[in-house]
Parts: sequence; C-alpha cells; structure tokens
Amino acid sequence: MPTMSDPETTAATAAEIAAEWMRAGSILILTHERPDGDAVGSALGTAEFLRGCGKRADALFPEMLPKRYTGFARAARFEPLSPQMCATYDLILVLDCANPARIATGGMTLHDLEPASCRVLNVDHHRGNTVPGAVNFVDSTAAAASLLTFEIARLTGEKIPQEAATLWYLGITTDTGSFRFANTTPRVLFAAAELLKLGAEQEKVVNAVYFSKPRNQQLFEAELVEKFLKVTDDGKIAYAVLPEEFPVRHGFDMRDSEGVIDLLREIDGTIIAVLAYQRGGEFKFSFRSKERSFPVGPLARRLGGGGHEMAAGATMLLPDAAAAEEFILNNVPGVLQIESEK
Ligand code: 5GP
Ligand code: MN
Repeated sequence: MPTMSDPETTAATAAEIAAEWMRAGSILILTHERPDGDAVGSALGTAEFLRGCGKRADALFPEMLPKRYTGFARAARFEPLSPQMCATYDLILVLDCANPARIATGGMTLHDLEPASCRVLNVDHHRGNTVPGAVNFVDSTAAAASLLTFEIARLTGEKIPQEAATLWYLGITTDTGSFRFANTTPRVLFAAAELLKLGAEQEKVVNAVYFSKPRNQQLFEAELVEKFLKVTDDGKIAYAVLPEEFPVRHGFDMRDSEGVIDLLREIDGTIIAVLAYQRGGEFKFSFRSKERSFPVGPLARRLGGGGHEMAAGATMLLPDAAAAEEFILNNVPGVLQIESEK
C-alpha cells in the first residue's frame, strides 16, 4: 500500500474520493497547524459525516483549538500523531493543507509515517498543493475545504447529519468572510443554502465566529488600531507589526487572531492589508487583498509561504519589529505595481 512517502501519487476526482471514504472502515483526519475555521469545519464536519455512516472517524488536533471553536469539537482527538495511531486507521485524510510541512501532527514529519501501512488521501483547495497523498484531489476554484468535503459527501448518497452540516457551514462562512470575499460564488451560496436546509445551526456559527470576542481581545484590538496600525502608499497599504510582548501583555493568544487582520482590511482605501507578529525569532505575515487585480499570493509564494491569491501568508526570520516594518515597506508596494498580474 502507498504511504505518505510513496512518490507515486494520483490525481483523483471527487467521486473517487467519495468511493475511498465509503470503502474505509476507519479514517483519521489531519489538517493544517494553527487551524482556522475551515480547517476545523472541514476536519470535524467530515469526521461527523463519516461517523454517521457507521465508521470510526476522528479529526486530530495536536494543538489547542482556537477558543471560539471549542464548542464544535465533538469528533476531535487532542494528542500528537504517532505511527502506532496511524496503523489503527484504514485511511489518513489530509484536509485544507497546502504542503506537508504545515500538517499539524504535534511533531512527526511525513517521513516518520513510513512504517505505518496507512493510505493517505489529500483533499484541498490551495493552488500548488504539494501534500504527497496516495490519492490527491485539489480544487483551487473552491472557496473552502469545507465546501469540497460537503460536495464529496453528497456524492456518496449517505445521510448528512446536522452536526456535519453545521461544521461545513462554519468552514464556508469563515473562509468567505461570511460571504463577503471574492470567493463567494454561486457554488458557495448554493452549498450554504443546502447546508441550512440540512439543519446547519447558523446562529451557533455566527455567535461563535462574530459575537464571542473576549474583552481582552477588544482591548488588544483597540491598542493595535491606536498604536500599531500604519498606512503607506496613499492609504492603499495598511499594515501593523506586532512585537511579541504586545499580545502577551493583553493575555491574548495569537492562535485566536483569525479575523484580526480585518481591522486593516476594512479601512476605506485599503487595497492590501499586512499583519505581522513576532513569534520567537521569526515573524508570521498575513497578507490580504481587496482587489483581484492586485493579488498577494505571488508575494507570499516568493517568500516561501503560500495560501490563496487574495489571502496568503508566510513566515520570515527577522530580528525585530523594525526589520519587519522595513521588509514590508521594501516588498509590499511592489504588489500594487505588478502589471502582469492584472
Ligand atoms: P493566514 O494569513 O490567515 O494565516 O493564512 C491565509 C492563507 O495563507 C491560508 O490559506 C493559509 O493556509 C496560508 N498561509 C498562511 N501562512 C502560511 C505559510 O507560512 N505558508 C504557507 N504555505 N501558507 C500559509
Ligand atoms: Mn481553507
């Protein structure tokens, strides 16, 4: 059987993935580190769906989940991955993860999996996905991995439980910024409508994602806007560089920072938003674009990171906040000048 390090990989169709799911008796689902709403929604939604089909299915989260998602984690295992654990499942399903280095395993590399005789399926919506599954299904036209996994589940003809519908609705909601971003296509809205018909708990999702902000996060955001937010290029670029002590001082965990970049994106006149925060000796950069003619994907890829054209990220070794700001000022304005990308 192929394993994670098997060089022979196949590009599959959604129907082939559906057939793989139905053939397996037990499935372990992995997703990317620092999970966002789509990672959580696609992994746990698929686990709930497969459990409903009578299978043993778990979504693995070696790290703590962002607080807002803890109420959705019924089908989760919170422990590091091990070859022994893999050997107890027929299939390892990797979701929403663009490359092998970003799979949340709690320490193991893909290579460590070799002794386990497990079959790896890779389902994702990131262009240029390099996860070496035995079978790979990558559709970068899909707004969310939650959308893809819902569509695959529908192909099986099996019942879709309410818990799965809620989780997939969560992932689609967060990866489209609640149906605001350019990836909000008719396909997304049809899927969202179907999920609501299946009983997806819209109120639970929207309350968790938008109406559960802790007070310390509000104060953190207020100081971010007042002291750290800067603009350049006539306001077309809004950026903030956060030294490590700043979130710490507010008792704010940056793993809960999904959506914080919208403080920059929402400003009138902003085209590109950049949020950088210090993590040990490196800075984590998030890039967002509001106009399709100025994508941020190419910049992130050039820096060794990745993501989507309008939402991407990268990590850079930089000594301090001043160096991170200089880096932004030297590299981001170029995004507004890339004629060939227009
Ligand atoms: P965020 O800025 O919210 O962390 O991520 C935005 C998008 O870029 C997501 O699709 C995420 O997976 C991707 N991304 C963020 N950081 C990195 C990175 O360091 N490497 C890669 N390959 N992708 C990243
Ligand atoms: Mn996603």
